[in-house]
Amino acid sequence: KSKNAGRNCFNVYSPDLKVEADQRSLLEIELREAIWREEIEVFYQPVVELGTGRMVSVEALARWHHPTRGFVPPAEFIPIAEEAGLIVELGNLVLAKACRDAMKMPDEVKVAVNLSAVQFTKSNLVDVVKFALAESGLPECRLELEITESVFLADSAENLKTLRSLKALGVSIALDDFGVGYSALSYLTAFPFDKVKVDKAFMDRIDRPETRAVLGSIVQLVRTLNLAIVAEGVETQQQVDEMGALGIPLGQGYFFHRPVPLADIASPSSTAPKWQAVA
Ligand code: C2E
Ligand code: MG
Ligand code: MG
Ligand code: MG
Repeated sequence: KSKNAGRNCFNVYSPDLKVEADQRSLLEIELREAIWREEIEVFYQPVVELGTGRMVSVEALARWHHPTRGFVPPAEFIPIAEEAGLIVELGNLVLAKACRDAMKMPDEVKVAVNLSAVQFTKSNLVDVVKFALAESGLPECRLELEITESVFLADSAENLKTLRSLKALGVSIALDDFGVGYSALSYLTAFPFDKVKVDKAFMDRIDRPETRAVLGSIVQLVRTLNLAIVAEGVETQQQVDEMGALGIPLGQGYFFHRPVPLADIASPSSTAPKWQAVA
């Protein structure tokens, strides 16, 4: 950062900002090429059932290994893709790949694909999903679509209509990153979701009684609404123990498995738990 950062508040033009903007447009150009060349890969992270260690589903996560920059995290390139209008193509690519790859996984494993709110407004999402299912032959009951509350923020009425049409296809809908940002409990009743994914922030602060209290109310509400619940970002045995105490039966996180390429999911040995399930 600039040596003068913080010292001269009136210096609106910052050379650093220009460098940042240039970097960004370069990354945008390179991302466009990467999508075009189909250099975006898809990794899969298992969601496991605590009691049995069984892998119930996998989440598809976009991966970009840049020839010179190396690994570029989605947190960096997804926002660029959204702003540059590349997310539709990127999203279609991930969806198509995930559906095809799921056909090579055990039949009982579902595949979850993240959708950006931009895909709701800038593409015919229902047709895109229909096509991905038809082209791959994946039964609709094995596809899960993850959305965040952002889908409800912009173009809410139209997006809700699209969400209903998606659900009518027979796929399931999960509310991702729940409990952070602007999200209110009311989002849970805004749409008949199948699953709620509780944001990693809860696991990060699970040692605090307040966190456990809030999580306890979420679990209760989720039960009343008859939804499935998954804890994201589970990294330690202590967090697993707290999940058990709170009655959260499903978890996703480095403690269980990191995101891995298809080959690691498709081989049966990877479905066996590498960790000790707690009673
Ligand atoms: P997400 O959908 O909430 O996905 C979970 C993220 O948490 C993934 O990060 C995963 O690698 C990470 N994670 C899982 N377990 C742990 C853990 O125990 N500890 C920590 N520190 N992290 C864990 P990733 O792959 O970097 O993706 C970040 C976000 O980028 C995703 O969050 C999702 O919002 C977005 N994203 C990734 N792929 C796609 C995609 O194909 N389409 C769209 N629209 N968004 C995507
Ligand atoms: Mg997700
Ligand atoms: Mg999430
Ligand atoms: Mg998240």
